[in-house]
Parts: sequence; structure tokens; C-alpha cells
Amino acid sequence: MDHDTIVEDWRRNSKSHDDENYEFLRSLKFRDYGFDPDELAAELHERAFQIVDCTRCANCCKTLQIKITDADAQWIAEHLNMTPDAFAEAYLAMDENGERKFRQQPCPFLGEDDRCQIYGVRPTDCREYPFTDKEGFVFRTKGHANRALTCPAVFWMIEEMRKRSLIRTRRKRKRRT
Ligand code: SF4
Ligand code: SF4
Repeated sequence: MDHDTIVEDWRRNSKSHDDENYEFLRSLKFRDYGFDPDELAAELHERAFQIVDCTRCANCCKTLQIKITDADAQWIAEHLNMTPDAFAEAYLAMDENGERKFRQQPCPFLGEDDRCQIYGVRPTDCREYPFTDKEGFVFRTKGHANRALTCPAVFWMIEEMRKRSLIRTRRKRKRRT
């Protein structure tokens, strides 16, 4: 498996697999597939990001509106030699939930080479995206399903997880017959 194969598979299949992936993710809350979802997600997360090259994708930076905390705003403003107010005025907007986000899409700090121009001070959400290695994987079902539509790495992780669950289910059925 390489970067291009994962990205191509995501392009072809992420939308058509959306419903079954969401149902599978939901089922992790109540079905035992013989693996610990947090452990498997952390393992697949590490593998995925050894293969996928974010600098050749940048889809999250192009399509998502990133949440900016007060600490993020202060940190980035300092880096840009701006006051937090001037930074907020230039770059941020409040959404319907009262969260501040970058006003522009793609992100105003995404360079023409698809690299982050403020990488060292990028917002917390950018550091943690796509959240697949965080504890409590099963409690972010909807988020993971949505992120599989945006992020080739997440799509690959969920598909791998689903494959392992099918192997386990088949083995169980076989033992019963
Ligand atoms: S969408 Fe996923 S694979 Fe693409 S740059 Fe963002 S984190 Fe990396
Ligand atoms: S701040 Fe950097 S990492 Fe975050 S969305 Fe913008 S370009 Fe991407």
C-alpha cells in the first residue's frame, strides 16, 4: 500500500462507503469484534501516517474551517507580529455555535506548495486532526465518519478496521456451523 493507492481508493469509494462505514463505527459501541477500538485505531493511525504524505494532500486545510481557540489566536498573532484583535479582524469569523474559525477556505495560511506557512504555531485542532489516535474512539462515531469523507488516511483506517471486524465475524460463524 502506498500514498497514491490510498488516495485513489478514497477518491473512488469514500462517498459510496459512507453509510456502511458509519453503521460499522456505530456498532463498535455495542459489538465485540475481538479488538480494542482505541488500540487498533492508534495502531492504524500510526501506520496510515507513515504511508500518507499530508504535504501531497492538504485536503483538510483546503476544505475545513478550523476552530481557533483564544490561545491559538494569541500564539499565531504573536508569530505574525499582530495584536490578537487585529489578527481576529483579519482572519477569523464566529460560527453559529459561537466558535471562532478561519473565515477563509482554503485556510489563509496554506501556501501555494500545499504546506502550512505557520506550521510551528498552527492551531490545536490542526495539530490533533484527524483525532483518530485519541482515547474514546467509539465516542466520535459521527466525526470519524465525516472525516473519512475529507481525509484519505481516516478512510483507510476505517476500512482496515471494518475488514478486521468481518474476518472476526466470519470466524465466529464458521465455529458455529
Ligand atoms: S486530509 Fe488527512 S491525509 Fe490529507 S493532509 Fe489532512 S490529515 Fe493529511
Ligand atoms: S493553519 Fe496550517 S495546518 Fe491548519 S488548516 Fe491552515 S494551513 Fe492547514
